[in-house]
Amino acid sequence: MKIICIGRNYAEHAKELNNNIPTEPVIFLKPKTALLVDGKSLYYPEFTNDLQYECELVIRMSKNGKYIQEKFARKYYNAMSLGIDFTARDIQQKQKEKGLPWEIAKSFDGSAAVGAFMPIDEEADMQKINFELKINNETKQIGDTSDMLFSIDQLIAYTSQFFTLNIGDLIFTGTPSGVGSLSVTDQLDGYLEGKRVLSCLIK
Ligand code: MG
Repeated sequence: MKIICIGRNYAEHAKELNNNIPTEPVIFLKPKTALLVDGKSLYYPEFTNDLQYECELVIRMSKNGKYIQEKFARKYYNAMSLGIDFTARDIQQKQKEKGLPWEIAKSFDGSAAVGAFMPIDEEADMQKINFELKINNETKQIGDTSDMLFSIDQLIAYTSQFFTLNIGDLIFTGTPSGVGSLSVTDQLDGYLEGKRVLSCLIK
């Protein structure tokens, strides 16, 4: 399986990191070794001094497909959860300045925390999904998919031009504003449509 991540898919988040609003989706990948599931803790990596959280809606593919048309994309996924796109922001900043790839800042072991999946109702409006991240019980990010620059179905159509999407692949659909730094002992809890689906402790 693979983990496809979308960058800068919410205008307010692009602005908070001083990035331009993209005209096409920004894509990067995380390997399977990045997965952090079942509420496991993340050990603060030694190579960074600025580990940050990005809470994102995660979509799980239920069918294989290539060149999926936007109008049919909805048939290719059937479950959703929340994920944390853990980012070594100091390293990412250096890579961006040099025009180098982001993987060492974003695709390290444990960098893709994923919570429990909820089935998606066939009638659900995917552009009206809300989610929230609390850290140490304080709200840090509030997201609503209506604020996405590219809808989930547009993201699937776009990414499947380049990558065959397989059953079980995950798509991190981008983070809303409010990202920030983490410290050891921080407890992250993610709520999807009001239900807690994700929990992760920084050790
Ligand atoms: Mg992200």
